[in-house]
Amino acid sequence: MHLFQVGAGSGGMAVLDLLARDSRITRITLVEPDVYAPHNVYRHLFPLSSVGRLKGELAEEWIRAIRPDVAFDARVEDITDPARQAEFARIAAECDLGVCAADNEAAKFAFDALMRAAGKPWTLGEVLSGGIGGWVHRFAPGAACYGCVASHLKREVTEQPSGPPPDYSNPTAAQPEATIPASKASIAVIAGMHALVTLEMLGERRPNPLTPFPKKGRGTEPSSVLRPLPWGRG
Ligand SMILES: [Zn+2]
Repeated sequence: MHLFQVGAGSGGMAVLDLLARDSRITRITLVEPDVYAPHNVYRHLFPLSSVGRLKGELAEEWIRAIRPDVAFDARVEDITDPARQAEFARIAAECDLGVCAADNEAAKFAFDALMRAAGKPWTLGEVLSGGIGGWVHRFAPGAACYGCVASHLKREVTEQPSGPPPDYSNPTAAQPEATIPASKASIAVIAGMHALVTLEMLGERRPNPLTPFPKKGRGTEPSSVLRPLPWGRG
């Protein structure tokens, strides 16, 4: 199956690492224009020695090291670039599933438009500022789009410029939204959920984190499918 992913930041790389370990994924197209920066290191999979290199190139090397059989196309491009839309539409038409791990609203809307036009399912992972939680969304063709979600969550379509420093002499004044980076631990939790939901959309028949656990009868043992696997097995 062909995975079309946008974003290989700290969240995108974590989810890609988890997805690429599934043998059903045989082809990956990744769109990521950014360079790996020193401030990325403390919450990323790549080492300090990789600073200065393209994230897409590093992602390709990471995946090839565990899945040399996967066809990997790393594109140093911006998903919102108007000049690339025809090419992205072709990729969307060819892929089986999309994964969005972009950190800005414009990229989410752009990917949504591409996947809706192609009639392909996709997922989106978002870690909240400060790492106090996050969301995983799944989008099926013909169902709610990202615009529906953004409207429901009352999100601004345009990015807000970062505000002035807080005015400590006036603690009750309106404060700009905090943009504290999330920890790697917080990102890992959401990336794990994002990967589970995405794998389920590939047709996996395993317990879905989004649906209730099956009811069990009084006095019966939990189903073996839900029994925890000891750490380290496999
Ligand atoms: Zn909609």
